[in-house]
Amino acid sequence: MKFQTKIVHITPADELTGAISTPIYQTSSYQQLSPDNTKAGFAYTRTANPTRKAAEDAIAALEGGRFGFACASGMAATDCVLKLLNAGDEVVSVNDVYGGTYRILTTVYNRFGVTSKFVDTTDAQNVADAVSAKTRFVWLETPTNPTLKISDIQAIAAMAHAVGALLVVDNTFLSPALQRPLELGADIVVHSATKYLSGHGDVLGGFVVLNDEALAEQLKYIHNTSGGVLAPLDSWLTLRGVRTLSLRMQKHCENATKVAEFLAKHPKVDKVYFPGLPTHKNHDIAKKQQGGFGGMVSFSLKDDTIAAATKFLTSTQVFILAESLGDVFSLASHPATMTHKSTPPEVRHATGTQDSLIRLSVGIEDVDDLIEDIEKALLN
Ligand SMILES: *Cc1c(COP(=O)(O)O)cnc(C)c1O
Repeated sequence: MKFQTKIVHITPADELTGAISTPIYQTSSYQQLSPDNTKAGFAYTRTANPTRKAAEDAIAALEGGRFGFACASGMAATDCVLKLLNAGDEVVSVNDVYGGTYRILTTVYNRFGVTSKFVDTTDAQNVADAVSAKTRFVWLETPTNPTLKISDIQAIAAMAHAVGALLVVDNTFLSPALQRPLELGADIVVHSATKYLSGHGDVLGGFVVLNDEALAEQLKYIHNTSGGVLAPLDSWLTLRGVRTLSLRMQKHCENATKVAEFLAKHPKVDKVYFPGLPTHKNHDIAKKQQGGFGGMVSFSLKDDTIAAATKFLTSTQVFILAESLGDVFSLASHPATMTHKSTPPEVRHATGTQDSLIRLSVGIEDVDDLIEDIEKALLN
């Protein structure tokens, strides 16, 4: 079955009633037949809930994985995966990893004896040079935030496996509609469902998907023990949102391409970061491993100042100035003063996050309105 069909029919009708929309099982516990016997395998919602299970099965199927775990946020999903580590283990991560992932590795897991190295994974050789027998995870995001760097999943999976490490890919920026890391050799996929998966700016959620049964058993134990699970309503909202994922991603890609092309020709714009532009460093890898270039576009201004970026961001009418990404509506943000505010300017500059850098999450509106909005905001 093709992806677009699979996604629309992702959830089977409710077994008990035939309801075509999975019911929201808003319950903490379940009446049991006897102290050691449940009616349908459910005893307590932290351990299992039918609505959450439907969401877990759905996202796992979309990523081409056997096991899925729905978590309270993307960071809760990341935390579950990191809890597979032991003191003495090392993580080799992409250097411009999501800020929350950088923070949890360097200020929380470091206290438990987990060390982290951050390398430029856009050149796969840097990964081969960084990994060692201590490396348990190679942690990748591709494209990265906010400069949309691309790394070769297949090549890096082989390098991780060569030292007995696992490759974890945070697939938030593309979603399984455009990239399926497990099919490219990754071992674990992590998601912030807050973004494209749910897609409507109304859910905070996360997922972990994998194929290995022994590892899935460990994750199931951690998921239930730590308790950062996705609530029934949020599981339902994610299922509700994900049915249109394919369609949304097509439109995000189409609009982002036109926006990037417009920006690339604009006299006030300095650099444009978009994997779909032939000038992008790893455009060919993006073409090879992605089903589309995604909906994220970043750009800097020739007037490379925080003031110039602020002027643009307070002038748009359609683009909403907000954190987050992947929603149906277009969003704009300023990494230097928002997501990367706590990153020292030297560090920020080193990974390309200039003072004027603006990140656009291009929505599914009519692209003419989006371009007109950008054009007017750049005039100011
Ligand atoms: C947002 C985001 C996260 C964290 O997800 P939350 O749902 O906000 O906890 C992790 N990785 C990436 C790439 C993200 O964009």
